[in-house]
Order: sequence, then C-alpha cells, then structure tokens
Amino acid sequence: MKSNFLFHFFGLLFPARCPVCDEVTQRRSRLCEACEKTVERIEEPCPGCGREKSECMCSRSDFKLQLVAPFVYKDDLALAIRRFKFNDELILSEYFAKEMCAAVSKEYPEKKFDFVTCVPLTKKKRNKRGYNQSELLAKDCANLLGTVFENALIKSRDTTDQHELKAKERLKNLKDVFEVNKSVEIKGKTVLLCDDIKTTGATLYECRKALIKAGAKDVCCVCIAVVPEKLIND
Ligand SMILES: [Zn+2]
Ligand SMILES: [Zn+2]
Repeated sequence: MKSNFLFHFFGLLFPARCPVCDEVTQRRSRLCEACEKTVERIEEPCPGCGREKSECMCSRSDFKLQLVAPFVYKDDLALAIRRFKFNDELILSEYFAKEMCAAVSKEYPEKKFDFVTCVPLTKKKRNKRGYNQSELLAKDCANLLGTVFENALIKSRDTTDQHELKAKERLKNLKDVFEVNKSVEIKGKTVLLCDDIKTTGATLYECRKALIKAGAKDVCCVCIAVVPEKLIND
C-alpha cells in the first residue's frame, strides 16, 4: 500500500513524457500515440545500408555494413536526437537503446554479443562535451542485451566534423583515425557497435574495419536512426 502511494506520488511529480515531443503521456518510456503515428520506422532493413529495402542505396555506397536502426532521421525524431546529443538530455538514451535493442533482436535473434562498444570521441572532445552520446547508448544496450560494454576503440586525433564534409571527403578525413584498445580482447569476439545516427556510414565502416582487423569474428552495427539519402550532402 505504502509503495503504491509513493509510486503515484512520484508519478505526479515526475510524469512520464514522450521521448520525442516531451508531452506528458501514460505510456512510460514509449512514444505518445501522436508520435507513434508520425515517426517513421524502418520495418525491413537492408543489412548493407540499414535503410528500408525499398530505399536501399548499397549500389551507390562503398560502405557496406551489417547495420540495423529503428528509425529514419527526420522531423521530431531528428530534433529529439539533437537534444540528446547537444542539450544534455541524457535520459533519452534509455528509450533510444530500448528501440535499438528491439531492432537488433528482430534482425539477429540468434546472435550472442560478447560485448557492445561505441564509436569513440577523442579524449579532448569527450572532456569538452562531458560525455560521449554513443557510449551512453552502448552501455544501455549492453544492459538490455545482458552483456557488457567495452571501450574497444580509440580515436587518435580530432577530425573535421563529418557533417561539414561532402560524402567523398569523409573517408579521407577518417583515414587511420580509429585504433583498437589493446587492453580489450577482440580476437574471435562477436561485437555490437553503436552510434547515434548513420549518414554515409563512413565512420561506422572505419570503426568496424578496425575491429575486424583486430580479429573480431563478427561485427554488427546499430544506430538510432538512418539519415534519408536526400539529406546527405554529396
Ligand atoms: Zn510524442
Ligand atoms: Zn542497402
């Protein structure tokens, strides 16, 4: 009885809010009904590019991945990701991770991940921002999937922000920038690699390549959302 009272009391103080539009909702840690209708989900992803199969752009891309993502990066969902990334709304990580893990389990029900890791920031950038949004997602995904998080990748130098570059310049910008963390056992492991969004896929591609080069057996990638082709500046 008492805990029930406390539950309702805190429920009034901290009502559940929709992770996307921030409206109060009864649906804790789920989208409100209005957002559930408008947010665009990826139902049948192409494993190479993570896009809806009917919108696959693998034939126009050099960065084949093994990627799943629950959402298309647009409208209110894109704004929510930006709030998570730049406005310290860290609580959103839990919701995004839940959706990411549901997408992973649907596409790869048989896989057992030895660990989850993330696209790293340089130490300097991480300290400046105070957190790495991809690391928060990776840690929440590891919890949900019942495995561990490992800091398996290191970014050795700062690079020009990928979104400021044209698609062709992106890979050059990232050349040899990701290294594996020697203190993490990677050989023979099945790894889940997390990032927030996938644009051309160059960053995930380079990170995945570094893990495979270090002997990883299998590397799957997961993001919150994939950027539609028309928004990629090439
Ligand atoms: Zn909403
Ligand atoms: Zn594809």
